[in-house]
Amino acid sequence: MREKITPHLQSLIDQGKAGIARQFLKEFVADPTLEPQSDSRFQSFDPLSEDSHEVVKGLVHKYENRVLWKVSYLCAAHCQFCTRTRQIGTDLGNLSEEDIFGGLKYLEEHPEINEVILSGGDPFFAPQATSIIFNGLMKIKTVKSVRIGTRMPIHLPNAFGKKPIQKLLGEMEKQLSERPIFILINVEHPDELTQDVREVIRMLRAKGFLLFSQTVFLRGVNNSEEVLKDLFENLFFMGIIPYYIYRCDYVKGLETYVCSLEEEKAIMTSLRSRLSGLACPTYVVDVEGKGKIPVPLNYWEVQNPTQCRDFDFKTVNL
Ligand SMILES: *Cc1c(COP(=O)(O)O)cnc(C)c1O
Ligand code: SF4
Repeated sequence: MREKITPHLQSLIDQGKAGIARQFLKEFVADPTLEPQSDSRFQSFDPLSEDSHEVVKGLVHKYENRVLWKVSYLCAAHCQFCTRTRQIGTDLGNLSEEDIFGGLKYLEEHPEINEVILSGGDPFFAPQATSIIFNGLMKIKTVKSVRIGTRMPIHLPNAFGKKPIQKLLGEMEKQLSERPIFILINVEHPDELTQDVREVIRMLRAKGFLLFSQTVFLRGVNNSEEVLKDLFENLFFMGIIPYYIYRCDYVKGLETYVCSLEEEKAIMTSLRSRLSGLACPTYVVDVEGKGKIPVPLNYWEVQNPTQCRDFDFKTVNL
């Protein structure tokens, strides 16, 4: 994926924020001290077979009651660990009006779908397309809830003060008394939570959106108990509930980012005992053909489910 970065992120990198540099600049991604041995799990650019579940351009229908809708294939900046390197920043661009009406028609014909997840690319990087989709969804009675997955508050916080996004947020705000609207923000490192970003979050919270976060375990960025504790506590006290932390998908080219499963489990096990329950996300692996499967923390022996360990790691009989 070609490099793309915003002045906001570049200024953080210029201040020496290494956890941000490694997410966006190839020069840091290719850190030779972190390069793993060749890894046969990373064979495909689409290891979760997303493309085979695409029912209309942009619309991925994997689970019975909810769909993921890629509103756009563009983002303000390119995260080099992106699970959709095959699509982001390519000439796929934004969805056309025809694609959008095709997607809305599919949802009308599938009343079992009650939740729509707008994703991409970044829906807030394509506010006009997102507006058409959102207003279309609001006319479909069987769609009970809308989620928006975004990184725009982190990539380009200033855009939230400008007209196109303000207009979109105004349309969404009007619907809040009818249906909840969840905004899921992808955040990887506490250095991303700058003053500008905090102001965007305050504004979204004041309007009444429900805010959650998603994080990907990234080697050399956040595979550290202290970094993640800092991240989740900061998010929580900003009014964002940490929702998921994902194991990095086995996408060809992302080998350098994947951490050891045992290390991830140890970090999340320890954080579970140190963080407020509301501040500790569920640790999941997206398994091909299955979905997001929670990883058991080290409190249980898989072999003997009548025993667990307490937070001091003493065995408890149940
Ligand atoms: C992640 C995902 C969802 C949402 O899953 P939740 O566990 O409800 O957050 C829905 N559809 C697709 C294709 C997804 O990848
Ligand atoms: S914002 Fe999301 S979709 Fe866009 S490059 Fe980053 S991870 Fe990929």
